[in-house]
Amino acid sequence: MVQDNYERILEKIAKSAGLEKEEIERRVEAKRAKLSGLISKEGAAQVIAAELGISFDNEKLKIEELLSGMRKVNVVGKIVNVSPVRSFTTKRGDEGKVVNLFIADETSNVKVVLWDTNHISLIEKGEIIEDKVIEIINATMRDNELHLGSFSELKLSTETFGKIQTEKIISEKNISDFGINDNTSVRAFIVQSFEPRFFNVCPECKKKVNINEDSFVCGEHGNVIPEKRALINLVLDDGTESIRSVLFHDTLVSLGITELDNPERLLNQREDLLGKEMVFLGNVRMNTYFNNPEFIINGVKSVNLDELIGKLENK
Ligand SMILES: [Zn+2]
Repeated sequence: MVQDNYERILEKIAKSAGLEKEEIERRVEAKRAKLSGLISKEGAAQVIAAELGISFDNEKLKIEELLSGMRKVNVVGKIVNVSPVRSFTTKRGDEGKVVNLFIADETSNVKVVLWDTNHISLIEKGEIIEDKVIEIINATMRDNELHLGSFSELKLSTETFGKIQTEKIISEKNISDFGINDNTSVRAFIVQSFEPRFFNVCPECKKKVNINEDSFVCGEHGNVIPEKRALINLVLDDGTESIRSVLFHDTLVSLGITELDNPERLLNQREDLLGKEMVFLGNVRMNTYFNNPEFIINGVKSVNLDELIGKLENK
């Protein structure tokens, strides 16, 4: 599946650039070699596309072709889930609303975030609901979410889908094969854990807030009363390599880290983590401070032995 996606990206770039697919592939490999393999094939292809001055503007993409950082994204998908409309008021007195929905096509699915009141009113009026097919024009891929602002378009589409992919597609990889921007899972041991670090997030969008004199400012929501969050750095090792990883608030709880305000009990909980083998899901990012890849964990699962045995038997 991942390979098909890469092949399709290559074909698209080749077609737009008027070059052979093999030539694009050669450039992608050269780029990866230059970056010591720290970038995934898909990521490197994106860099090559940018270098060739190619954008995917005005082109309809399949959901599995969406890559973090893409702008002016056009995509069609069937709505599989719509969250309730959430309202918020910033300290400046502005009224804001946000809606999350999930859309799927035959290749994959993606979370869509609506910020524009015109788009949200389509949901409030019941024109855009679950099971409808929608067309999105001019959206931005922020991390692994598709964000629609006031310059984006949202409308019903007449396209139809047969079987849609509603399961999240996450490939399992060895740490030694991790590339930047990979959305992946790995079965690994926790070999080290560090002191927690605390920071403040916006209560609405959960993004980190900036401190401006005595007030906390969210880029999207202005002055806010922040929520305190914690993160812990871990080192994971799967036998192929180790990687520095980041575990945030919600996933900390699922790993049994609850005593963030009690240093002594926290130390015990952290010690209990060592040697624990789990399946970690997340994204590989470049940590610009350490200039090293880092695994941002967004989910933890216990190792499913039946599944594992099944896999080994099928080898
Ligand atoms: Zn915010």
